[in-house]
Amino acid sequence: MEHELAELREQVENCRKCRLWTTRNRPVFGEGSEKTEILLVGLGPGYHENLEGRPFVGRAGKLLDKLLELAGKRKKDVYITNIIKCFLPDNKATREEIKACTCYLDRQIAIIKPGVIILLGNVATKYIFDKCGLRLAPMYNLHGKTFAVPTLFSQAKIIPMYHPAAALRNPGLRDVLKNDWKELYTRRRLKCSRALNKG
Ligand code: URA
Ligand code: SF4
Repeated sequence: MEHELAELREQVENCRKCRLWTTRNRPVFGEGSEKTEILLVGLGPGYHENLEGRPFVGRAGKLLDKLLELAGKRKKDVYITNIIKCFLPDNKATREEIKACTCYLDRQIAIIKPGVIILLGNVATKYIFDKCGLRLAPMYNLHGKTFAVPTLFSQAKIIPMYHPAAALRNPGLRDVLKNDWKELYTRRRLKCSRALNKG
């Protein structure tokens, strides 16, 4: 698995499939525990992530650290990646960019085989919901809920959440977000059986 992820990382580092390669400093492939049950999917690298080549290291990342803590986790316990791997200058991805880049996320999911996928924000939610045939709704209806999706021998839990950056822009969302993450811990939804999933 490590080998497969390393190979994929190299492909991303050399990727020129969409115009975003021209404005990136370092692609942000993703990082964390490769044996984790829990995958987090954000949108794409901002200014700080582009400088460091690592996901969620800016202001939204600091908030994400706190949210993970509320769920009894640390960054190194989960794997964090994004829909888009190269710097998104105005934080908006076009349909073409999403189409070009999500083959890498698909492969990361196939390799890591997470039991829980936490979707940070609307773009990640739309992509995975479409992919899994789940019916999309506005985030205020979806956030914090668990959607079970069958996998080959088990099932994956899909949990949409507001993006941490949304709570930075709109402080009213902060408590909603904190509450959703706290509930992950209290309802123990982050516990799931590895047995069937991981072989
Ligand atoms: N926002 C994201 O969606 N991803 C990051 O990696 C950082 C900020
Ligand atoms: Fe390739 Fe994705 Fe970067 Fe576009 S954003 S160049 S598809 S890695």
